[in-house]
Parts: sequence; structure tokens; C-alpha cells
Amino acid sequence: MYLINNYDFKDKKAIIRVDFNVPFNSSFEVTDDTRIRAAMPTIQKILEMGGSTILMSHLGRPKEGPEEKFSLKHLVPVLSKLLGQEVKFAADCIGEETLQMKKNLQPGEVLLLENLRFYKEEAKGDKEFAGKLGEGADVYVNDAFGTAHRAHASTTIVAQFFPKDSMFGYLITSELKSMDRVMHESEKPFTAIMGGAKVSDKILIIENLMEKCDNLIIGGGMTYTFIKAMGGNIGASLCEEDKVDLAMELIKKAKAKGIRLLLPVDNVVADKFDNEAETRITSVDDVPDGWMGLDIGPETIKIFSEVISASRTILWNGPMGVFEMENFQKGTRSVAEAIVEATSSGAFSLVGGGDSVAAVNKYNMKDRVSYVSTGGGAMLEYIEGRELPGIKAIRG
Ligand code: AMP
Repeated sequence: MYLINNYDFKDKKAIIRVDFNVPFNSSFEVTDDTRIRAAMPTIQKILEMGGSTILMSHLGRPKEGPEEKFSLKHLVPVLSKLLGQEVKFAADCIGEETLQMKKNLQPGEVLLLENLRFYKEEAKGDKEFAGKLGEGADVYVNDAFGTAHRAHASTTIVAQFFPKDSMFGYLITSELKSMDRVMHESEKPFTAIMGGAKVSDKILIIENLMEKCDNLIIGGGMTYTFIKAMGGNIGASLCEEDKVDLAMELIKKAKAKGIRLLLPVDNVVADKFDNEAETRITSVDDVPDGWMGLDIGPETIKIFSEVISASRTILWNGPMGVFEMENFQKGTRSVAEAIVEATSSGAFSLVGGGDSVAAVNKYNMKDRVSYVSTGGGAMLEYIEGRELPGIKAIRG
């Protein structure tokens, strides 16, 4: 049992680990409430079932103890408005007064605790601290996927104090479902699209994906380490010299496994790293000296789009070029469009990892792909095939 639908919350106090790590302006107004909204279904469901909720989260990176600018009290107005009810606030996440507030909590009520990271014990995964967090609650619910890769007190250790009453909220459940659908139950052909700046960040992911996918598309800055490995001229393009041998190994591995590895064939090159730079289209292995490849070219867009269109499962992580600059965003936008089109024809598409999420948002495509993961680092670790401590603590 680790789903909230299967649990009777009537008269139960649920302590929920949420991810309320949201941005503020200088007047402490929340500037993007996406994460708070994402936690609503879980909170509301528990309240509807007759339970009460105690919400705990981190916010920012406070260094030494409490800091006004990282206080969760600034979230109370937004949270009250979204829930349409009063939200109580405990000025400390542990301690006698907070315990008393938990004890006094009535069914249907919501209590928000102060920032967990005001205590260094949180990030250390301290067991005694985790025990204090759990005190006064009957059940533990984790709905913070973005921190599930951390063995922190509130994300992992606290579950030990609820051996029969630990479960996932809706947000984690849907993240896991989408990722499992891609990594363990993929309909074929499965195409993984990897972009972004560096190969070094993505090696483990690429290796693990090679066990699962049919097509592996590589774009973005990491292209050039592969092209260099094959003896091409990459000019001043991004290259990780110490990863050239590894890139060659990955090329060989793909061949041995019968995976179609697609690298760009042409690219948009620029004479400097600037939106206003002079540009040309060249073959990807023929970048003039001093010039750099900043986007995939038209022939590549055509090839990548065809492969994406014919796919049934798609995973996308990382832009195809320097999409922040208007003149080098076409490749990323075209790939996003191809993913949207494949999705409308019935493919399952998962987009995740900081910059590809930024790209689908920029192009207003987030409702036209199957799932956009907000998990960041946690999602990448899951795709690497690593076990996430926060997931293991509940699922075993
Ligand atoms: P990552 O965080 O590794 O996914 O990398 C994302 C960053 O890679 C974005 O800021 C892009 O601007 C950058 N990027 C993508 N393609 C290139 C390229 N060809 N040259 C330099 N940077 C790139």
C-alpha cells in the first residue's frame, strides 16, 4: 500500500513532504506558484477524506539557521487562497509549540511548518530530527519528487517512523508512472533525444538509455565531442577533449547493440557566441576554424523530425542548440514541434530536465506533450537507472 487512494484518512493527521521551493520577488510575493498548485490535489484529497494535513518543505538554501527571506510564512496567503481556507503556520518545524499545534489540529485543517533547512539535520538525514518531524502525525505522505533523490530527513528517513503508513502523493505517483512508462514499458520504436551543453553530464543517462531505446538522437553542444571523435573539424565549437575517447566508445556500443545513433549532419555555425554573429550552414564535420556550431541545420531537422514522427515513445532532455538566442533556436523548436505532432498521433512523450522544460514552456507546448517532468535532478538520476532514496523508503 503506497497510494493515498487506498488509505482511510478519516480523523488521521497526515504529514506531507511537499516541494514549496518557489521564487519570490523583493516584497516576498510568490512569482510562480506552479509548485504550490502541483501539491493541491494531494492536500485536497486528504482533507476531503476527513483528514488534516501538516505540510513541510524546504525553501532556498539557508546557510545558518532561520533567515527571514527563506521563511515559509510568506506562502501562507497564496496557500490559503488556493485552498480556500485558513492555513495555520508553525514558526518552527519541530519543538514543543509545534507539537502542540499538531495535536490541536482538527479534521479538515491545514498546518504549514517553517522551512526544514533552518536545521542542518534535515540535509544530513538525521534520524532524531526525522523522528521529531513525524511526531504527532499518523501517516507520512511524500509528494516532493524534486527532492526524492536526496536521503534527507523529511524525504527519506522520516518514513522509518511510519512503517505501515507511508505513501506517495499524486504528484510523485504521476512522475513515477510516466517515467516507468518510458523506461520499463516503452512501446517501440522508442526514441531518446539528448541535447544540452556537455556529454559529461549525460554519460550515465546515455549508457542506460542504450539498454532501452531504438533510436538515440544527439544534438546541442555535446554533438561536437562525438564529431571530433570521428575525426571531423569542429572549429571553435564546444568540445570536452577528455571525453572524446568515451564518445567513440559510445558510438561503438550503439553499433554493437543495433541502436540507431543519430548525430547532426549539418549545423548553423557562428563567428562568435552572440545572437548577432555572422552565420552559415555547414556540414557538421566541416566547421571553419574560429567558428562554432550553435544549432542543428535544416537537413538534420528533417532527419530528426522523421525519426521522431515514426516513434511511439519519446524521451527528450536538453536543447538542440543555444535556444536562448533567437537566431539559434530553430532546431530546438522544430524538435519540440515534431514531438508535439507525434504525441497528437498517439505517441507517449516525456520531457524533462531543466532546459527542455524551459523550451516547451517558451513555445507553449507543455499541454501538447504527454508529460513534463518537474523533477530535474531526481528525474535524471531515475533515468540513469539509480535508485532514488525517497522512492525506495516507501516502495522498498
Ligand atoms: P544542459 O544544461 O547541459 O542541458 O545544457 C543546456 C545549455 O546548453 C543551454 O543553455 C544551451 O544554450 C546550451 N547549448 C546547446 N547547444 C549548444 C551549442 N551548440 N553550443 C554551446 N552551448 C549549447
